[in-house]
Amino acid sequence: MLNMLRSIVQEVNSAVDLDEALSIIVTRVQEVMETQVCSVYLLDGTSNRYVLMGTKGLNDDAVGRVSLGYSEGLVGLVGVREEPINLEHAQEHERYRYFPETGEERFESFLGVPIMHHKKVLGVIVVQQSTSRRRFDEGEEAFLVTVSAQLAGVIAHTEATKFIAGVTATGEKASDVSFKGVAGAPGVAIGRSVVIYPSADLDAVPDEDTDDINAEIKHFEASIDSVREDIKQVGLRLASKLRPEEQALFDVYLGMLDDNALAGEVIRLIREGKNAQWSLRKVINDYASHFEMMSDAYLRERAIDIKDLGTRILGYLQENGQEVRTFPDDTVLVSDELTATMLGEVPVEKLKGLVSIKGSGSSHVAILARAMGIPTVMGLTDVPLSQLDKKEVIVDGYNGDLFTSPSPELLGYYQSIVAEDRELDESLQHIKNLPCETIDGHRVCAWVNTGLMADVLRSLDQGAEGVGLYRTEVPFMINERFPSEQEQIICYREQLEAFAPNHVTMRTLDIGGDKALSYFPITEENPFLGWRGIRVTLDHPEIFLVQMRAMLKASEGLDNLRIMLPMVSNVNEVEEALHLIYREYHEVCAEGYDVAMPQVGVMIEVPAAVYQVKELAERVDFLSVGSNDLTQYLLAVDRNNPRVASLYHSFHPAVLQALYRIAQDSREAGVQLSICGELAGDPAGAVLLTAMGYDALSMNASNLLKVKSVIRGIDLSWAKQLLEQVLMLDSPYIVRSTLDLALKDAGFNRYLRPSRASSDKNQ
Ligand code: PEP
Ligand code: MG
Repeated sequence: MLNMLRSIVQEVNSAVDLDEALSIIVTRVQEVMETQVCSVYLLDGTSNRYVLMGTKGLNDDAVGRVSLGYSEGLVGLVGVREEPINLEHAQEHERYRYFPETGEERFESFLGVPIMHHKKVLGVIVVQQSTSRRRFDEGEEAFLVTVSAQLAGVIAHTEATKFIAGVTATGEKASDVSFKGVAGAPGVAIGRSVVIYPSADLDAVPDEDTDDINAEIKHFEASIDSVREDIKQVGLRLASKLRPEEQALFDVYLGMLDDNALAGEVIRLIREGKNAQWSLRKVINDYASHFEMMSDAYLRERAIDIKDLGTRILGYLQENGQEVRTFPDDTVLVSDELTATMLGEVPVEKLKGLVSIKGSGSSHVAILARAMGIPTVMGLTDVPLSQLDKKEVIVDGYNGDLFTSPSPELLGYYQSIVAEDRELDESLQHIKNLPCETIDGHRVCAWVNTGLMADVLRSLDQGAEGVGLYRTEVPFMINERFPSEQEQIICYREQLEAFAPNHVTMRTLDIGGDKALSYFPITEENPFLGWRGIRVTLDHPEIFLVQMRAMLKASEGLDNLRIMLPMVSNVNEVEEALHLIYREYHEVCAEGYDVAMPQVGVMIEVPAAVYQVKELAERVDFLSVGSNDLTQYLLAVDRNNPRVASLYHSFHPAVLQALYRIAQDSREAGVQLSICGELAGDPAGAVLLTAMGYDALSMNASNLLKVKSVIRGIDLSWAKQLLEQVLMLDSPYIVRSTLDLALKDAGFNRYLRPSRASSDKNQ
């Protein structure tokens, strides 16, 4: 059964469109289950009806024509109940509906299973059998449930492809086609999409044609020659270490590159007008799925070799054929997984919006986007990337929506939001040099988080009073190797000089989790619980020490450096790091640099640290809460996983209790306390944190003036009352709505864009 299932899923995966996918599903399921009928009904979002979209066994003519209301008939019942319905005598059931055009009167037994994707019913898959047989047995029911679960994602994906092409599942013209993701960075962008792909990733290669077949073939043949040469070289190098049967594998590889095998098939596709990269992807995938379907485990494993070979060829194809990309003035950059490097590829003035298929609002790339003020949608898991290139799109970064084929009405609506946002920004400019202080005189420091040089300019422009978090991993991520000490000095000096005499808090290299260095890959089953932050740098003092030296030297004459340690879960880590920092400090001084010993602090971002505030405070000069990670670890919700993004609540009562406890313990310990997670930049979050007694709020520059404006418009006593009220609540939703209501009543409605935008649009 499992093999059959695997092979159905693979066949469906390689279908070119939804119709072909459905036809494969009904044919193969009917065959495997040995039933007389298998049909798929899809729920059409516009008419809210189940439409018969594919069948094996009923009249073909009924496809696309027969439909049932949302709760009509047995199909509707399966959808409403969201569970399988298995009947021996379907016609006796009160919900049975008969459609003469389907010719289904002969079929008595009925088994219908909902096709569910992300809690939503996409449709219903049904098998039927004539009276001569009895009820479908438990095993058959379980099989259909498994097929349905496996196919739901594929159906969602192929359905989305049709939508992007401008038609609905039932073939009508679609406009305002929307895709739901999660909010990445606030704001609205209206522009043209540009899809970019990571290099040498076969699955990311788009379906494209060529207009110069001969050049494409030559280019492909040159790449094959290069790979052939590589394989020979590796074979020679390993000759003495391999047994003859292992060496034979290299001959098999070389054989596959011949004209009468894989290479020949690719050339045939190019001759049909497809470009070399797509042809290669198609042939490699066909070969690999052929192997993957084999029942012999050893042969199945060979699919990996084929893919490896394909990746190598693709590497050469991309290297030799690199074109210079041009970006439209209103670029909305789209990628499977956006990275800091990709953001850097587009000139800043042209980059209007961002869309990432993977990741969520708490992913680091979303944080970078917020810092740059670029509206972003993340986690659009079912969007077929290759179809999304060069489309007119709207990115709603408040609600996490992406729209294609927008109607003039929708465009008008979003243009008015863009204009309102601009007005709001302009209206706040006058407070940029005023203190972040409540009406009754309580002052908090308004700091910024930085990473790129662009953030520095934005931050200074918004009146930042210092840097509470400089993410030093960002310059590391956009490099192709570890930056040298000298390169780091230049980079750090820029930050320190820009903000002097205000301080700059430099966090030591915080890689791991979702922050990867291409030149220092960390592959782990569970990266957020793995080798991250200080765990990596303490294991690699050669990296840590160079960074410390560079920071210290860069601060000469400015003395506004603070050093901060990420991901601390144990006091020993702090002691070890302090030891290295002191050692480096003395060496730098001995070399003749005149620098002051910087303050050193620890991030409170794992639950263990919450309970050791006192012990940590005894060892360092300041503490700073990393609420992004603290939330992820307290709630056990991977901040990078869109599937659980709806469970990531910054205002979860448990998070608020932890933040409150940290504030109380820090006060008792007499240590300075700041927060540099995204919560600090949320106006409601800022109010609560101020009430809790946080000394400084560090946020992305885009939120600075909004937060300052709210703090300047309230009394500390009012904030404390609100905090008291909120700390008694038990649900994150009620906390959020209580805060929204309080801010609205206090006259800050215009800062509550996310909830406002969605309710306005639906009115
Ligand atoms: C945090 O975890 O809150 C934080 C500020 O660090 P980062 O988002 O870079 O992990
Ligand atoms: Mg963190």
